[in-house]
Amino acid sequence: MDALDILTDLENVFPYFQPIFSADEHRVIGYEVLGRYRGSKGVVSLGPLFQDETIPEEFRLEVDYEILKKALEKAIHLDQDIMLFINRDADLLMHSDGEQFLKTLHDYEKKGISLDRIVLEITERNYKGDIGHLDHLLNYYRTYGIKLAIDKLGNESSRLDRIGQLAPDILKVDLISMRSTATAYNFNDILYSLSMLARKIGASLLFENIEMVHQLQYAWKNGGRFYQGYYLQKPAEQFTERDILKEKLRKECHQFIVHEKKKLESLYQVTLEFNEKVNEFVSKNRKISDYEGSLEHLARLLDGAAFRLYICDEDGFQKSPNLFKKEEGWSLQKEYLQKNWSWRPYFLENIMKMRINKKGILSDLYTDIETGETIRTFSFPLNAEDYLFVDLSYNYLYEQDGLL
Ligand code: CA
Repeated sequence: MDALDILTDLENVFPYFQPIFSADEHRVIGYEVLGRYRGSKGVVSLGPLFQDETIPEEFRLEVDYEILKKALEKAIHLDQDIMLFINRDADLLMHSDGEQFLKTLHDYEKKGISLDRIVLEITERNYKGDIGHLDHLLNYYRTYGIKLAIDKLGNESSRLDRIGQLAPDILKVDLISMRSTATAYNFNDILYSLSMLARKIGASLLFENIEMVHQLQYAWKNGGRFYQGYYLQKPAEQFTERDILKEKLRKECHQFIVHEKKKLESLYQVTLEFNEKVNEFVSKNRKISDYEGSLEHLARLLDGAAFRLYICDEDGFQKSPNLFKKEEGWSLQKEYLQKNWSWRPYFLENIMKMRINKKGILSDLYTDIETGETIRTFSFPLNAEDYLFVDLSYNYLYEQDGLL
């Protein structure tokens, strides 16, 4: 595709629209605007042209605005609450101090497209300018109601600081990087952090490149509020009927809920069983005097599930050694005595929960720092001063239903 051919043939440059669906209504809430060119070989994407830095900025801008104007022209007749997601490269956006973008939008504001329906998908990949200037411009846009989205998350994890700085309205997570199972493991953890961050800063997660039902499920499960991808709708020249997937998404969502509830029920069941076992011990041992002996007793009770046990006080100071299971059997690790764990996430919160509810808690899945295994911890209030912690091995979790 020759850039010059396209520039001299702007008539055949036009927008495609890819629908974006919402999790709360299961209907189209917006479209991402994509650039296309109709040439001798049919319709081709203009993506490569926009990313080609050997093509002068003026040329790329001209094509970009041709698409934007045509897209806005078409969007005049859309429902007044449908959003338009517009891609902009930070470099190109800054080219005319960002004025051209705003001017174009203002032109169409008069025709009925209010600026709070515009979502700017900013790409900073090649940005070489002053970050302060860019942020200033983006904040200026936002005073008009324009929303901000950060694009292509998932392949770069080093953007957390930038997300914090910009506090975007929407984070777009790219599911293409989920395809390779080798990276899926890390991707899960990165995504979890992103979803927590999004929640803290009040941003919504949009999952793009959803191509299979399990990816939709994944997006739903990980706090995805918006969905986009071939599995839902391909980009097209025309807008689509808003409720086109309402029934389908409703049914699929129901399946996700059934599956998730089943998992939660088995977690609850296992927690109940552990509670019963340890309660049995507690009813015979109101006060703990022999910590090592008590741990050995509990280890026998929980054998097959536990690989590490210890007891802490309510401030997190360890009152017992670790009882740790090696291949040759259980052994005591005295070097852990008096260590403090109050700095660990959720530690004090969980102590408080246990103290008030007088019940044990099963933790989420996490990676054990020492063994590198994926584990869960069961913790239990033995009495007002002693809190038991039982680390459950990966093998045990693997053999149970719904624990991984
Ligand atoms: Ca995009």
